[in-house]
Amino acid sequence: MENKKDIIYSTLHKYFGYSTFYPLQEDIIRWVLERKDLFVLMPTGGGKSLCYQLPALLFDGITVVVSPLIALMKDQVDGLTENGIPATFINSSLRSDEIVTRKRELSEGKIKILYIAPERLAMSEFLGFLQKLNVSLFAIDESHCISEWGHDFRPEYRQLSMLKEKFPNTPIMGLTATATPSVQKDIIEQLKLTDYRVFTASFNRKNLYYQIMPKDNPYHQILCFLKERKKESGIIYCQGRKTVEHLAESLQEDGYRALPYHAGLSAEMRTENQERFIREDVEIIVATIAFGMGIDKPNIRYVIHHDLPKSIEGYYQETGRAGRDGLKSDCILLFSYADKMKIEYFIRRKEDEKEKEVAYKQLRELVSYCESNVCRRRILLDYFGEKFSENNCRNCDLCLNPKEQFDGTVVAQKLLSCVYRVGECFGMHYVIDVLLGSKNQKVLQNGHTTLTTYGIGKEYSKPQWLAFSRELIQSGYLSLEGEYPVLKLSKQSREVLLGRKKVFLTKPEEKPSFSASKEDANYDQALFERLRELRKTVADRESMPPYIIFHDTSLKEMSTRYPQTASDLEKISGVGELKLRKYGALFLKEISDYCRQYAIAPKQEIFGKQAFAEKQTRAPTIYTTLELCKNNLSLLEIARKRGLATSTISTHLEKLILAGENVSLDKFVDPGKRQHIRAAIEKSGMEALSPVKEALGEGYSYDEIKLVRAEMMYSAMKNAE
Ligand code: ADP
Ligand code: ZN
Repeated sequence: MENKKDIIYSTLHKYFGYSTFYPLQEDIIRWVLERKDLFVLMPTGGGKSLCYQLPALLFDGITVVVSPLIALMKDQVDGLTENGIPATFINSSLRSDEIVTRKRELSEGKIKILYIAPERLAMSEFLGFLQKLNVSLFAIDESHCISEWGHDFRPEYRQLSMLKEKFPNTPIMGLTATATPSVQKDIIEQLKLTDYRVFTASFNRKNLYYQIMPKDNPYHQILCFLKERKKESGIIYCQGRKTVEHLAESLQEDGYRALPYHAGLSAEMRTENQERFIREDVEIIVATIAFGMGIDKPNIRYVIHHDLPKSIEGYYQETGRAGRDGLKSDCILLFSYADKMKIEYFIRRKEDEKEKEVAYKQLRELVSYCESNVCRRRILLDYFGEKFSENNCRNCDLCLNPKEQFDGTVVAQKLLSCVYRVGECFGMHYVIDVLLGSKNQKVLQNGHTTLTTYGIGKEYSKPQWLAFSRELIQSGYLSLEGEYPVLKLSKQSREVLLGRKKVFLTKPEEKPSFSASKEDANYDQALFERLRELRKTVADRESMPPYIIFHDTSLKEMSTRYPQTASDLEKISGVGELKLRKYGALFLKEISDYCRQYAIAPKQEIFGKQAFAEKQTRAPTIYTTLELCKNNLSLLEIARKRGLATSTISTHLEKLILAGENVSLDKFVDPGKRQHIRAAIEKSGMEALSPVKEALGEGYSYDEIKLVRAEMMYSAMKNAE
């Protein structure tokens, strides 16, 4: 007979197509199999469903899953059925004869997992029916809905308190992604868990990249971001309905498939738009926070906050909808002080003092998150009481591009004196226009062209001046006041203007950019596109969301390993027994056609046997280069393997060298040439490459010069320390 460990693993592989567990899943499953109560805290994407779905297969009886999201039940059941797991749901969307049929199947023991909404348990007839069945486990999904302190209280959930009484011998499992301790405590009490254990996973979403961008020209910024992600799914959150409508429309005009979603639309419209997003008929949903609860779509590749979210908790939940499948995804927030003031204005109008206070506190926390100079992830986790001990998370804007400071006293003096000269009655944009010597109507009308500060700031661009202004506000040298915010000086600014105080500012970036993860593409993108199309065709035919056929993780892994046979395909994560039988041949044919067409030998996989998804999430792009570099490959070979330009690879290497990683140049630059390059750099200086290249002439590449320069810079840095 198989022992327990073997059974758990063989079930995992057979039905779900996975060979390893996510953190805590195995411990949780073992505990569930002991038939004891438990409470599971895991972030979105942590893999909660498997924690009851797998045990359900090993129990004699039925596992009842309580979920508030009726609209989602069908997809969940379809997903299980596709994996060969007998499941069904009973809710108000069904006709009574359908309910009768399903109940019969349940009584006959044909079903392992039953999904219901909480209100069904209030029906005594249904309760009686359940009591006659053999229920092995109650899994209460989204269990924070039971708590009035949670963000999503649902009165129907209160009924669940009677489960323990009515089914004293059936274990209960509460699950939630809500991280606040008071809510957690409440859930445990309400569900009356006994002799239970709490399983808390880390709330660190390693695959999510966090970036805060100053909001200068939001539509343009969003277009820039989307340009590289035309085929990826994403959500853009806005504060108001008007912005949602407007933005969705503009995006459509610019050729993007985008739909709006907000509480002002009819219920049918909302359902339809959500459905079209999930089925991948459109890539983008522009929405208010009304959208999101119960979005199971695992491949949302980005979440953009066009406006400030309400609180850190809200921001964490909203960004959390990205990257459920564990693949890299981007969370971008466009931050402006004007937005902050808008929110303050709304808070001021609130009547309830307590509510006001809470709202102010939430806003303060959020703004300080945006303004921070330390790792975003650290602040988020800290907020939920989790310690993040790494110095560098390698996946937030601040860790990837640490801010550099410079003596900005003169810059500050220019700006502050211009604020003074215009009489402290103008906004940020206006003051900067004066500094830049703008000829705009308002400046001319006000006669500000004669000011001594007119046109003295031309060495920086407008966005750069905006960034300086923000920083000076943040550090208290300036403030924005009034309903149409104008810049005012503070006591401290006097000291700077009188030359008694130095100011340090962040060095401006050449061009603020999304230093996100887009180039981290270690798979064959052309093949991935083909498989994605095939998946969409199959999904439409079966009238199911594409992710139920295969996840992106599976398709990307196929596009890395080029499986040729059924047994190759079975090794791909997410390909279980039934899926292999149903779709294996179709996908294998597509892959082998592709390989033939492009003469690809199937053994060209990059990562050997290591888990593909793991690599995707853990390794920021430059570290992938480092790894290949250790394999003694040439620049060109690395570039080919990664599908990137050699100049990109040499830039990676440059960063690695400067970060103190041990990169040997032997493979990249001939030692004899190195001598010459060094000499040329010593003559022309380190600032620019082209004078060095010119001095050296043909036979030397920019890549080579860049690498030697990096080595020289690093040793200069070391010596200076
Ligand atoms: P949650 O409900 O906690 O947000 P899900 O149950 O939806 O998370 O799981 C998130 C994603 O991770 C899903 O796409 C799921 O298929 C996948 N997943 C879960 N467990 C594993 C595992 N052990 N190995 C690989 N993928 C997994
Ligand atoms: Zn970080």
